Amino acid sequence: MRASCYFCKGKVVEPVASVDFWWGDDLKIIETVPPGICQQCGEKYFSPEVYKEMERLAKSPGRAVSRLSVDVLRYSPA
Ligand SMILES: [Zn+2]
Repeated sequence: MRASCYFCKGKVVEPVASVDFWWGDDLKIIETVPPGICQQCGEKYFSPEVYKEMERLAKSPGRAVSRLSVDVLRYSPA
């Protein structure tokens, strides 16, 4: 895990967070992931092991612990 942000050189911390993870057209929310997050700009980093596990979860059916319904909005300039 890198200790400083690639973009702004901010400090990267590892909180436990929920992560929105796109698997093809499916959006999965994965809870209690330990990502690296830049304290300054919010850029997320994942170690290869964490990413692999999220991928594994996303593609195994029947692993959901709950479901959310999500609003889809269309941008319309005034
Ligand atoms: Zn940053």
